[in-house]
Amino acid sequence: MDEFLRAAIEETERGLAEGGIPIGSVLVHQGRILGRFHNRRVQKGCAILHGEMDALENAGRQPARVYRESTIYTTLSPCAMCSGSILLYGIPRAIVGENRTFLGEEDLLRSRGVMVEVLDDPRCQALMAEFAVVAENGIAVVAIFDSGPGVTEEEIPRLFVRLYRGSAARRSEVPGTGLGVAICRILAEAQGGGVPASSGPDGGAVFRVRLPLAA
Ligand SMILES: [Zn+2]
Repeated sequence: MDEFLRAAIEETERGLAEGGIPIGSVLVHQGRILGRFHNRRVQKGCAILHGEMDALENAGRQPARVYRESTIYTTLSPCAMCSGSILLYGIPRAIVGENRTFLGEEDLLRSRGVMVEVLDDPRCQALMAEFAVVAENGIAVVAIFDSGPGVTEEEIPRLFVRLYRGSAARRSEVPGTGLGVAICRILAEAQGGGVPASSGPDGGAVFRVRLPLAA
């Protein structure tokens, strides 16, 4: 994966860990990261700290020439505000992780000569999907997509057996005990919920944590 997209995705993970919206951005100048950050609207109760704005802020004030030689990476298609900043500072290139969850002002950027490249990256899509929490008939459902080696349909029932690891996981270098999802299911079931699993859209697995909402 492109190291700068990876850095933007790392920012989303920081945002999630802080209880925020998982959107990250990195400003790159001549192969070097000038600024990087994640959306902090929730953390700061702020209207303008989108990922791109926060990365620009983190880069500090730069000479006009530097912006005109830079590339901005963002995990999600840039909104009107962030696109406006890209135009204002004359950043000539925007690399977008995905635009299925939200389509920003890519046409405006292109019409003004910005080179916009959409990577359609499944991890960026999964990040936003992962963030999605839905309520169904009194049950809160949190869908967690992983980007691991995936599971086969036959393996799914066995995933929750303590100490069981899927064949792809056993072959991989990734250490593990095979206890994590079993513990999650025990905890969810103790609260009247559950954790059904299925194959993910991009080869990983999806676990849907279901918990009854408080009355
Ligand atoms: Zn924005």
